[in-house]
Amino acid sequence: MSIYFKHMAIIGVGLIGGSLSRVCKEKNLTGKITGFGRNESNLKKGVELGVIDSYSLDLKDAVRDADIVLLATPVRAMVDIVKMMIPHLKGGTIVTDVGSVKGYLVDKIEELLPKDISFVGGHPIAGTERSGVESSFLTLFKDSNCILTPTEKTNGEALKKIEELWHTAGAKVILMDAKDHDRILAAISHLPHLVAYALVNTIGDIDEDDNLLSLAGGGFKDFTRIASSDPVMWRDICLLNKDNLLEIISQFQGSIERLKRYIKKEKGTKLEDEFNKANRIRNSNNLMC
Ligand code: NAP
Repeated sequence: MSIYFKHMAIIGVGLIGGSLSRVCKEKNLTGKITGFGRNESNLKKGVELGVIDSYSLDLKDAVRDADIVLLATPVRAMVDIVKMMIPHLKGGTIVTDVGSVKGYLVDKIEELLPKDISFVGGHPIAGTERSGVESSFLTLFKDSNCILTPTEKTNGEALKKIEELWHTAGAKVILMDAKDHDRILAAISHLPHLVAYALVNTIGDIDEDDNLLSLAGGGFKDFTRIASSDPVMWRDICLLNKDNLLEIISQFQGSIERLKRYIKKEKGTKLEDEFNKANRIRNSNNLMC
């Protein structure tokens, strides 16, 4: 199936929106791409870099005549943006998103959109700790997974087009229930980010002379790279996936408590068992760098 959109509007031209825009331009999937955001210098940069064709600081102008609208802002901004743009969308438009939390967004956006506008929830499992259009790049989604979360309300044609869009970007598409997505991502993505932020702050708090971290080696840098991720984006993800995140944080606290107990009681074999178990899980899931 070959896809072509006459006019794509990208709401939030940052790392993810900008990278998908680059794919659409490179593969000639679109006639024109209009960017929308709050910060004109980022959008101007997007035009200069050839990531988008033009931009507007006015949402209604950005989405007017669009046959596809990509929501790529932090997740808590998306519902208000949808509310504001609905009166200006034409019938037949596809709205899709790249948000890292799906349950709340899919429910809310499906509830808001009129019947002749399709919504397909999406989440590319690809990214870096960097933000803004200057960090975007063409191959970000190559060989990655992209989760789409259709419901019984999802228009089949729209779903096929969004699947094709992500295939063209180089991603393998996985269809999943939005609630399952949020439970799984809380464990494999949201918890690790939280732990990285907490670890850096723990060391920062004891680093009175501000020079402890200058001694940090590769392990610390590998582990904490994601603590450089955008705070607003991660604030939004944590609050929108609160219940799943609280549950997995409790399980994690249990694992830390167990390690603490083994260390306190000098249970070397138990500690070794824990570390061997982690080695086995990581190695058998092809997670070696
Ligand atoms: P980003 O680089 O910071 O880009 C977000 C863009 O949204 C910015 O260009 C920002 O531009 C715009 N924006 C922010 N708040 C806005 C608002 N209230 N109204 C309009 N525009 C707004 O972030 P990103 O990494 O591309 O993330 C975008 C989305 O993708 C998020 O929902 C995130 O959960 C999801 N995601 C991220 C990753 C990742 O690893 N980074 C991976 C998968 C999915 P202005 O400041 O000019 O408004």
